[in-house]
Amino acid sequence: MADLANCPNCDKLFVKALRSVCDQCAREVEEKYQTVYTFIRKRENRKATMDEVVEATEVSRELITQFVKEGRLHLAQFPNLTYPCEKCDREIREGRICEKCRGEIQSGLHAGERQQAFEGRKKERETARYKTYSTMDERVREGRNRRR
Ligand SMILES: [Zn+2]
Ligand SMILES: [Zn+2]
Repeated sequence: MADLANCPNCDKLFVKALRSVCDQCAREVEEKYQTVYTFIRKRENRKATMDEVVEATEVSRELITQFVKEGRLHLAQFPNLTYPCEKCDREIREGRICEKCRGEIQSGLHAGERQQAFEGRKKERETARYKTYSTMDERVREGRNRRR
């Protein structure tokens, strides 16, 4: 049985097979892509910003961003074309989030790892202390404490 669904774009019932929108919407998206691509590949438009492309092609910023994310527009060729980070709206040129947000996510992960490593080392030190009872270091420290 065919997998019927409502087109998320125009609400028309369509067979959901290869595309996530209906044929007509897919065709419209395709036309918009061609419009954007034709505009931007002209030498004099290579340095256009996102706003300028949106204005000249009348294609929405969201759709152009989608083309970029799908890898259909290669930003390497268009030095001024950027789109907003999904987390903080800062203008970016690759991936889904900006470097800062990526850094925050990574340092968040690393902080978790560091915490675990720290707990692990603490446990090791404690067991080691029980085993060796009194190391040189500890004797020195104890001496210092007594003097205080
Ligand atoms: Zn549709
Ligand atoms: Zn960000």
